[in-house]
Amino acid sequence: MIAGRCLVCGGKLIDHVNSIEVRCEKCNKITRTNIVCENNHYLCDRCAHEEVLSKINKMVPVMTSANPIDIGEELMMKCGISGNSPHVIVTAAFLTAIKNLNGSVTDDEVLEGIFRATEIPGGWCGYYGACGAGIALGTAFSIIKKATPMSDTERSFANEVTSGALKCVAELGGPRCCASSVRRVLSYGVEIAKEELGIEFPKAESDLTDCWTRKFNPDCKGIKCIYNPIHKTDKNLEMA
Ligand SMILES: [Zn+2]
Ligand SMILES: [Zn+2]
Repeated sequence: MIAGRCLVCGGKLIDHVNSIEVRCEKCNKITRTNIVCENNHYLCDRCAHEEVLSKINKMVPVMTSANPIDIGEELMMKCGISGNSPHVIVTAAFLTAIKNLNGSVTDDEVLEGIFRATEIPGGWCGYYGACGAGIALGTAFSIIKKATPMSDTERSFANEVTSGALKCVAELGGPRCCASSVRRVLSYGVEIAKEELGIEFPKAESDLTDCWTRKFNPDCKGIKCIYNPIHKTDKNLEMA
């Protein structure tokens, strides 16, 4: 799995304060970006997430779990993380869990969620002050509530969900880790679904206190991360 590294050469990604003009290594599209690798490679969002997205699209319809966190972990583990794919994983995981739980979300609505979340660009957490994983949870709730820009309470609710999810991501601190954002945002979504919609998901089977992605992320926050196993030990000690 490649996460937080260049998909062309495996080099470290460099996040520049100011954007520069670049050409996508795969499709030759010329655009501007703030993120290139240490060897100046750039892949546009579409080329960066192409492979992961095609795996997500194949996996999601046949998944049977009814817990968003478990689905999110499985998608990250089996499909990988690249470009803006964590955003798609949040929306797809949340909607698929409800579909599998009570059938109130349809296959078409899951596809609608994937379509919308694919449009949320990578790197927005730091450059626009709005983590794409947080927006992706708002997207899932917008679909559940069938909100449009013309809606009243449905539109407000979706925005409130995004706002709460963004606060959760902000509290994680930096540097960004897309896996921890996906986990935190989905956990928040589970709480909100219970409080506001009366949707109770089955207990997650995934052990979030033993992060497996830290081995792949060169920018891992280490013990600062709430999903680092060191905190599991703390909890065990407290309970002893
Ligand atoms: Zn590179
Ligand atoms: Zn491209």
